Amino acid sequence: MKLKIAIQKSGRLSEDSLKLLKECGIDFNNGLNKLKTEAYNFPLEIYFLRDDDIPQYIEDGVADIGIVGENVLLEKNKKVKTVEKLGFGKCRLSIAIPKDKSFKSIKDLNGLKIATSYSTILSKYLKQQKVKAEIHEISGSVEIAPSIGLADAICDLVSSGSTLLSNGLKEVEVILRSEAILIATKNLSKEKTALLEKLLFRIKALRSAKKNKYILLNAPNNKLDAICKILPGMKSPTILPLADKGWSSVHSVVEENQFWEIIEKLKANGAQGILVVPIEKMIV
Ligand code: ATP
Ligand code: ZN
Repeated sequence: MKLKIAIQKSGRLSEDSLKLLKECGIDFNNGLNKLKTEAYNFPLEIYFLRDDDIPQYIEDGVADIGIVGENVLLEKNKKVKTVEKLGFGKCRLSIAIPKDKSFKSIKDLNGLKIATSYSTILSKYLKQQKVKAEIHEISGSVEIAPSIGLADAICDLVSSGSTLLSNGLKEVEVILRSEAILIATKNLSKEKTALLEKLLFRIKALRSAKKNKYILLNAPNNKLDAICKILPGMKSPTILPLADKGWSSVHSVVEENQFWEIIEKLKANGAQGILVVPIEKMIV
């Protein structure tokens, strides 16, 4: 018995999805133009599909689990379970209008024609905001719609905003923030649930490792109390005596997002020779 995972065949999520599996220690051959492949060292079958099709495959149980953008899942509105956020494929679904048009509030969209590939999400949003606009569904190249006179505004995915800019558009309203997520079919067997748990354990270890750094520093012994308070660590910091009397080496783990503040406090409390190293896997 094998767990079947569906990932995007070629597109913005493909590379990171493959990398995630490889970092979980799963080896496979993903030769070009393969539709499916089997892992050598984990009971896993990998299906390469268009991202739009993945929620349906999971709902039907053709694949057990899959990786898609939250945006796709919300648009397709399929009955699947969201298992874990994956931290890549970050983007937002936004409304944009030609940059010379004025925009004061969402009400300015009343009566406009909006081109999008996300009509389900957009119409829900407009209804919520009590805006009456016409939705024009197109499947690709949404960003050129205003310049060819097909629509007054667009609703599309944005990450840096450079595509909007080069098409003379400005972002005026963010509807949704999205990232890649792991989804699963609702009726997973006991055996497959156990396999999913095993995979999830590895994914979580990677995710927490990425959020944390290993930190080593030297400190005079009379400053250790203060330094330990700044560095909570996983349990508490490790303290090792240095050959130089009166000094110790302190090892701990810090979160990436608090990192610079912590370094400043450590320095102010007499820490020296601070080293920061990435963590590959972290099991808490
Ligand atoms: P497919 O051929 O599989 O249907 P696609 O063209 O629909 O591919 P991509 O453009 O590869 O899809 O985007 C896949 C997902 O990547 C999006 O659904 C979204 O979740 C995420 N993403 C991240 N950044 C962006 C971005 N700037 N533009 C579009 N999608 C983005
Ligand atoms: Zn797609």
